[in-house]
This record gives sequence, C-alpha cells and structure tokens, in this order.
Amino acid sequence: MTRSFTALALGLFALPAVLATPAAAHEEGAWSLAIHGGAGTLSRANMTPEREAQYEAALQTALDAGAAVLRGGGTAMDAVEAAILLMEDDPKFNAGRGAVFTWEGGNELDAAVMDGRDRSAGAVTGVTETKNPILLARAVVRDGRHVFLSGPGAEEFARDQGIETAEPAWFQTEPRREALERMKADRLSAYDVDHKFGTVGAVALDQSGNLAAGTSTGGMTGKRWGRIGDAPMVGAGTYADNRSCAVSATGAGEYFIRVGVAHEICTRLRLAGSTALAEFDNGVREGGEIMLTEKLVEGVADAVLAEVKQLGGDGGVIVVAPSGAAVFSFNTSGMYRGRATSEGINEVAIFAEE
Ligand code: ASP
Repeated sequence: MTRSFTALALGLFALPAVLATPAAAHEEGAWSLAIHGGAGTLSRANMTPEREAQYEAALQTALDAGAAVLRGGGTAMDAVEAAILLMEDDPKFNAGRGAVFTWEGGNELDAAVMDGRDRSAGAVTGVTETKNPILLARAVVRDGRHVFLSGPGAEEFARDQGIETAEPAWFQTEPRREALERMKADRLSAYDVDHKFGTVGAVALDQSGNLAAGTSTGGMTGKRWGRIGDAPMVGAGTYADNRSCAVSATGAGEYFIRVGVAHEICTRLRLAGSTALAEFDNGVREGGEIMLTEKLVEGVADAVLAEVKQLGGDGGVIVVAPSGAAVFSFNTSGMYRGRATSEGINEVAIFAEE
C-alpha cells in the first residue's frame, strides 16, 4: 500500500521488479546450514574406504559445529565461521592448513564472508601469515570501513586486530607440494592436478531468518602473478542477502567470476516473485510472501551452473534460502558436502550419485 502510494507520488506507473518483489518467507525458529569442502573429479574408484570415511568425518565435524550454533539460537555469521574454522585447520581441505601451493612454492590464502542482514561483507586475498583467513574476513566486516583487503596490507590490518598468525610451515603439506611439483614437471594445468578443488564454504540461515555465507581457499595449484579466484570476490564465490539466499561456490574460479555466480543466483531468487521465474512455477505464495522452495532454489542454482559449464567451467555451489531450503548444485562428479536443518536433515556426501 505504502509502496504503491510512494510510486504514484513519484509519478511512476510501473514499480521496478525489485520493489515489487515480495519478501521471502521464513518460519520463526527454522534454521538451516550447508557446507562444502570443494567440488571436482571424485570417484569411488580413486578413493579408499578409509579416505572416504576421513572426509565424511571431517565434514560431519564441521557441520555439527555450525549446526550447534544455529540450534542454540546463534547467528548465521557465527555458524558460518564455526564450520569454516574447522575446515581451514584440517589439512585435507584447500584452505588454511593444507592450502595448495603457488608457482613460487608458497601459500596465498583468500577468504570472504557476507552478512545477509545488511549485506555487509569482508574479504581478503593473498594473505600468507594469517592462520585462519575467515577470521580476518570477519574482522574486515566488523571494522566496516572497507570490504576487500589484499596482501601485506591485509596482514598489517590482521596484526592491528590481534588476529593469530602462523609460520609458513603450518600451511604446507606434502600432497600439496607434490601436486605443484607434478604440475611443473609434466607441464600440467591446475585442473590436471587439482582433481578436487578443496575450497571450503558454508551458508547458513539462523532462527531469526538471517542469512550468511563464507568461503575460504588457497586457490589453484601453481597460481602466479597475484591471481585471485572467485572465492573472496563478493558476488562471484560468496554472497548473502536476506531477501533471497546465501551462496558459497567452489570450482574453476575464472568462470565463476565471469558469471558472477553467487550474486546471479541470489538475484534470480530475489526476483522469483516476478514473472522472471514463472517457468519454474513452484514458488508458493503465502500471505504475500514468496516461499523459495527447495525445487525453485535447485532450479535456479542448476541454471546458473549450466551457464558456468557453457563457458567451460566446472564446480558447484551450496545455497540456503529463508524458507530453510538447503541445496547443492554441481557439474562435477563429486562435491564434499553436508547439510543440516531444524527439520531434522543431517547428512554428508561426496559423490554425485549419493
Ligand atoms: N574457486 C577456487 C579458486 O578459483 C578454487 C576452488 O574452488 O577450489 O580459487
């Protein structure tokens, strides 16, 4: 009513779709969490049962940590941080400890976090001393002056903020060093040695209906010239907006940047109340609100991932919507993933057929 009146007063005859979009429905108390530990060429044939069990246990531990925050009434931002922290410290994943090596043989870490309440965001790239880049990204949000810090400047900010540092040896693991050596010796591309990308991410909906997204990575093996992937880029690998969804991506960053994957998914869902998504025809309206159902969210995420594929990129996303829908979408043979909701869903999986 008020909106129509304002529009008339301004002499506008048609409301822009963004203003006409109904709010996304959230049921008080409902919470939801999805995590990923990277997507890529994953098959049972090249993974031992022991290795599979180790990955599943690591995913479950991270999922449990985030879910405990949400179940206890904590914020989506805290849940995202709790889940990512554990995966950064776990050498199996390409983030924090266990990050891939750069061409020069170091580790340059990227991370981003975004709060769907006010779209405040913090991102860091090319950090080499910060033990948990997700904490640094969070500090950028808290500080509030900037969104994206890089390299030595980001590290100086980290010191000012009293964020824990680590020696280079903390991040370095043998399998990642071998991947770099193999890449150099056989003149392979990062895609050949990074069969599974290994980036980590989390998206959460808290009981108050707030969304948050976070992603952390070492990037791609053998990266050079200050290459930055999608993970720390707000809108590409990470995005959260209470009006639509929270997204964290993993995969061939160059393609995710070009599609603006995370923002693109959120925008399509934000406009789900308009005719733009009529083709899915399954957003159930309740009291003027749009219910972003699992099917709708899945349809949108798949459509955006198909665009990535069309350009030549592989990878995946996790998405959580205000309805509580927690969705995975990927065009690779596997993605380390997990989800937990107040509806009782609690699962981790690796391969596409699971
Ligand atoms: N997306 C990351 C990057 O391009 C890589 C990954 O997901 O593992 O840096």
